[in-house]
Amino acid sequence: CGIVAYVGHREACPLILKGLKRLEYRGYDSAGVALLNGKGLNIYKKKGKVQELENELINKDLHATVGIGHTRWATHGEPNDINAHPHYSNHKKLAIIHNGIIENYDSLKQALLKKGHEFRSQTDSEVLVHFIEDIQQETDCSLEDAVRLALQEVVGAYAIVLMSQDDPTQLIAARKSSPLVIGVGENEFFFASDATPIIEYTKDVIYPEDHQIALVRNGELKIVNLENERQTPYIQKLELEL
Ligand code: GLU
Repeated sequence: CGIVAYVGHREACPLILKGLKRLEYRGYDSAGVALLNGKGLNIYKKKGKVQELENELINKDLHATVGIGHTRWATHGEPNDINAHPHYSNHKKLAIIHNGIIENYDSLKQALLKKGHEFRSQTDSEVLVHFIEDIQQETDCSLEDAVRLALQEVVGAYAIVLMSQDDPTQLIAARKSSPLVIGVGENEFFFASDATPIIEYTKDVIYPEDHQIALVRNGELKIVNLENERQTPYIQKLELEL
């Protein structure tokens, strides 16, 4: 139900947790965060409040300047630690957070199961990360292209943010019928379900349109549509104060 993601030069984890708390009013049943540093992708998730996730994080190595965080309002699969987001692909190479519903997840899941993908959760969301990984492996394309090709097949509503172990400067986000705001800072980018987690860091925001994919890599932002046509981002100034 809530998304917060960051890539830049700040410590990602405290920023993400603070942002998730700002989104608490939206309602949720579990929370989670994925952080990427030199030692790999670390994922922590917990049924209950963001505070319970924070308790789980005590004494963990949370250093990272890129991360994704989520509060879940369960639609597919009961609220528990495993069904909480982020979800990850085989070998924890990719991690994803998703708001919305993937209506054709079951047919996608059956095809992926036949190809040997192992699923951990009962969610519709986990299917996305395996599907993207599968396309990338089959076609040897970039992650950005794999996301785009996957979303061409997806029916439903989504706001997603994806992170890859291969590139700690990269986040890929997309939306259709679910809210997503991108905050544009100096060599840093924020993604959130609404502007409240972003406003204290930057007032420059982009509201991507349905079927747009935003790729941040090495401090650069690029937006394309599902046909891979370059889109000109429209940066607005937030009026809102906290
Ligand atoms: N459909 C997804 C799930 O049940 C995402 C729910 C949400 O938007 O939080 O995990």
